[in-house]
Amino acid sequence: MKFYRHILSAALFAITLTGCLYHHNIEKDVLFQTSAINALLEGVYDGDTTFKEIEKHGDFGIGTFNALDGEMIGLDGNFYQIKSDGIAYPVDDSVKSPFAVVTFFEPDKTFLLDKNLDYTQLKEYLDNLIPTKNIFYAIKVEGVFSYIKTRSVPRQDKPYPPLVDAVKDQTVFEFYNVKGMIVGFRLPEFMKGINVPGYHLHFITEDRKAGGHLLECKIRDASAKFDYTSGLYMILPEHNDFYRTDLSGERQKELENIER
Ligand code: ZN
Repeated sequence: MKFYRHILSAALFAITLTGCLYHHNIEKDVLFQTSAINALLEGVYDGDTTFKEIEKHGDFGIGTFNALDGEMIGLDGNFYQIKSDGIAYPVDDSVKSPFAVVTFFEPDKTFLLDKNLDYTQLKEYLDNLIPTKNIFYAIKVEGVFSYIKTRSVPRQDKPYPPLVDAVKDQTVFEFYNVKGMIVGFRLPEFMKGINVPGYHLHFITEDRKAGGHLLECKIRDASAKFDYTSGLYMILPEHNDFYRTDLSGERQKELENIER
């Protein structure tokens, strides 16, 4: 009897332990996203997920807003909307997003960056430091940049054009010798259609007043923090625009042109 009791308490202990680990993974090391990048490419710019909901799944991330009204950046639990005037506005809980990617940022590794790396070199540099290209990484690059180039997109009107046409109206912003934070993700190639494979980064100034989707940069003095992430939780829109759009197309080349 005593023997069985021991087995029972050992089993209970094991359940408690795995319960904790499971809970930890679910809460923290999960990439949460709404909709799929192919829907955004096809012009599905209205989502039904509010920032009140999105904030439950992360304090860090990037994305956009309904009607494609600017670039989203989430940092330390604060969410900003960088509109086509280049200004970063705080985001209200009731605002909705058609595409957002967030996680709880807990750095696993910090890398000091070489001076003068541009965006292409930064990506190569970081690719040589990560242990695998098959998991998700949340990335924070903090420091001083001798150059930053970003863009934002203006709010679109219905019927929505595909993303490749919407970004033709983008506004480009340049910053010189600016302190700030680059925020985003590096995702595996196999995420094609679901999200942006490779690096997708946004920028915000240290005073959180301006920024956008990162197009180019030059590092002066900065470090990169990586959060290794192996979970994925995805919520798809529940409305007719999404249901009726053909999302089976191969849009990879188009996406590369839009993002860079
Ligand atoms: Zn972006």
